[in-house]
Amino acid sequence: MNRALIVDCGQGDCILIQKNNHQTLIDCGEYYKKPWSKTKRILSWYIQKGRDKNLDCIITHFHSDHYGGFVKLLREYNFGSVNLYLHNPPGFPVNNSPKFVELTEEIEQISDRVEVIDALPLDIDGLLVKSYYPDPAIPVPLSRGYNDTSIVFSVTFGEAIMVLTGDSCEVLNGPLRKAIKKDTKGKFVILKVSHHGSITGTKRTLVKELKPNISFISVGNPNRYDRRYPGSMPHMPTVGLLGKPGNHRNKNSSVYYMTEPRSSRHYFYVLDFMKTKMRLSIKNSSNNRLVDQVIYEYITCIS
Ligand SMILES: [Zn+2]
Repeated sequence: MNRALIVDCGQGDCILIQKNNHQTLIDCGEYYKKPWSKTKRILSWYIQKGRDKNLDCIITHFHSDHYGGFVKLLREYNFGSVNLYLHNPPGFPVNNSPKFVELTEEIEQISDRVEVIDALPLDIDGLLVKSYYPDPAIPVPLSRGYNDTSIVFSVTFGEAIMVLTGDSCEVLNGPLRKAIKKDTKGKFVILKVSHHGSITGTKRTLVKELKPNISFISVGNPNRYDRRYPGSMPHMPTVGLLGKPGNHRNKNSSVYYMTEPRSSRHYFYVLDFMKTKMRLSIKNSSNNRLVDQVIYEYITCIS
């Protein structure tokens, strides 16, 4: 079993990677009742839980649309043990929001089952991981708050490489770009679009250099984070950069938009990684053509 499950958790990120019975969760979505019930419903179909099952979990940064679901996960699923990978840059202000305090208290209570591991650098047994950030040589810019503390890394499956970016902004588009470009060259590139498609997250130069074959944007609509584009979704400029499905300078490019406004549908995508890129397949829980149509309409209205 070599697969990645990309969950539509509303405003937030949640990706489950399963490789040879080893499971790694990258972010856990929000804690609010509605998005968590969505995340949980999808995860329940796939995640292996129980006293004998272990989980590696990476929380890319300390915003609740990434870490919020972790407390719920611990309460509602019974794992044997959990390795929790985090990084709090030295000198960076400590998160004292009530939800983050709850997270740390919860971890303390069940500390016999949760091991907190500093992700400097990120290294996970059983996964071919390349860690790009944190990197002590690259200082954390304070202008984007926690977003630019995001753990950025890639996971390789044969000829396919997934680039996981959290909500990284300046760091991703600046110092990390060249290293990621070098490592992804000649591979089938799957990009988790940074910062929910916000224009601050994934910029033109990065898209031009990586030429992602598949891109995922996870964003809530409406969301309270970015109001700079009146009448449009904050992710639209990035969708425009990534190109129309099936009509891109990179001919196999597809963009998957991970949320549908006011819908009770449960979208998720399953990437099955076989031995070669030719056997990589993508499935979703609903109708692919409908999703492509939604993306196409968004692109048409901004171009
Ligand atoms: Zn976020």
